[in-house]
Amino acid sequence: MSKKLPVIVIVGRPNVGKSTLFNRLIKKRVAVVEDEPGITRDRLYAETEWRGKRITVVDTGGILFHDDDPLVEQIRIQAQIAIEEADVVLFLTDATAGSHPDDQLLADRFRGFKKPLLVVVNKADNPQRDGFASEFYELGLGEIFPISSLHGRGVADLLDHIVELIPAASEQEEKPDETRLAIIGRPNVGKSSLLNAFSGETRAIVSSIPGTTRDTVDTVLKLDNETIRLIDTAGLRRKGKIQGSIEYYMADRAKRAIERCDCALIIVAGDEGLTDGDKRVAKMAHDDGKAVVIVVNKWDLVEPPDGQPRNKSIPKKVMRQTLQDQLPEVGYAQVCFTSAKESAGLEAVLRTVFKAMENYNFRLSTGQLNRLFAEAFHKKPLTRKGKTLKMYYCTQVKTAPPTFVFFVNDPELVHFSYMRYLENVFRKQYALEGTSLRMVVRSSHERK
Ligand code: GDP
Ligand code: GDP
Repeated sequence: MSKKLPVIVIVGRPNVGKSTLFNRLIKKRVAVVEDEPGITRDRLYAETEWRGKRITVVDTGGILFHDDDPLVEQIRIQAQIAIEEADVVLFLTDATAGSHPDDQLLADRFRGFKKPLLVVVNKADNPQRDGFASEFYELGLGEIFPISSLHGRGVADLLDHIVELIPAASEQEEKPDETRLAIIGRPNVGKSSLLNAFSGETRAIVSSIPGTTRDTVDTVLKLDNETIRLIDTAGLRRKGKIQGSIEYYMADRAKRAIERCDCALIIVAGDEGLTDGDKRVAKMAHDDGKAVVIVVNKWDLVEPPDGQPRNKSIPKKVMRQTLQDQLPEVGYAQVCFTSAKESAGLEAVLRTVFKAMENYNFRLSTGQLNRLFAEAFHKKPLTRKGKTLKMYYCTQVKTAPPTFVFFVNDPELVHFSYMRYLENVFRKQYALEGTSLRMVVRSSHERK
């Protein structure tokens, strides 16, 4: 399970010393040379450690703006990134310059901000200058810390304070102690048979326990120290009693199961073609942003265990291609082949689920993410209506499924195919089979 390091974001108008502080925090004295245009400069983010705690430091002064981006705009973007991304914000000001209208402009963006924010008054090179610091209480943002980034004065105290403020929760993402698995699919593909096969035939230890919602019964399997909760298994067993439209009932049941699950097993029948029912189920799982594994059941009818080929025989490769073509929404899903009748292929399904869950909880560091996407934007620039799309910064805001936010100059420029291009670039590097990815485009204008 990957960790999300706590993120410290430095904001401040130009020339207050953001880059100097950044370099000091990351223990690097050298001035960072500018990269080629379009590639994010190294100055933007770096990891460092203080008293055994690792943190990511982001310097919003490192964002490469267009020459024609007005300062107001730049300030908005800085603030937006800090608001979305930071565990602690360092609002940097300059003791020698005193309170400046642009400080106020930036401060206004942080009204009502709930996370810790420290007003750091830089260039307080000596105790006399600490006296100037108090005027920054006017900003109305809270505590004031005079420091000198150039000489290091007060920086250790500041770091001590930052480390105390870091919420414990952001340091380690808890690995969920079980995977909630939903078996879904249209009628007669073999869901109940698979459930019985899982319960009876795997090496997994099985128990039926009351579900977390009323009138449901879950089945719990354990394999390799992993726990899988097959959710709402009573619904699968209670077949005879279905009233009314079976289609409606099945769709509704699948919908509720998907909502409760981490991973959806989409069951299709190997001996039949894919139907609209299969497509609807796949779309539901995808739209809900769950991990997905596709199971082609009744494979014994296609590849008989006695080895005698029948009319229906098709290779697995062809079946995989058919699925790719007909269920493109879940093209990232791995495909397993089972026979509930023969209890074949069941453990492989569970192991594929584990892998999908690992990918579902995948996290990439801010640095790697920005490098990857900065290059993608650089390689394939998007220009529409005479305007070029520009990415300032990218961050992974959550896992399950991995969700990335792009801060751009104008989200209106982005269209579906460009997002698909970005996803392809990402998946070329990190396949992340079994999980959808969410990509969200934000503008600096959006904060209401
Ligand atoms: P940024 O635009 O906010 O990133 O500011 P820089 O880090 O580029 O610093 C702007 C100027 O302020 C540079 O000339 C720095 O050397 C100077 N500076 C930064 N920190 C200090 C400090 O603590 N004391 C003094 N006297 N000068 C500083
Ligand atoms: P559900 O409606 O999706 O729960 O499907 P069932 O589990 O009730 O299965 C529907 C029919 O397919 C039953 O007659 C099962 O015996 C049969 N069936 C299920 N799985 C397999 C399998 O792997 N191979 C074969 N040959 N038949 C199967």
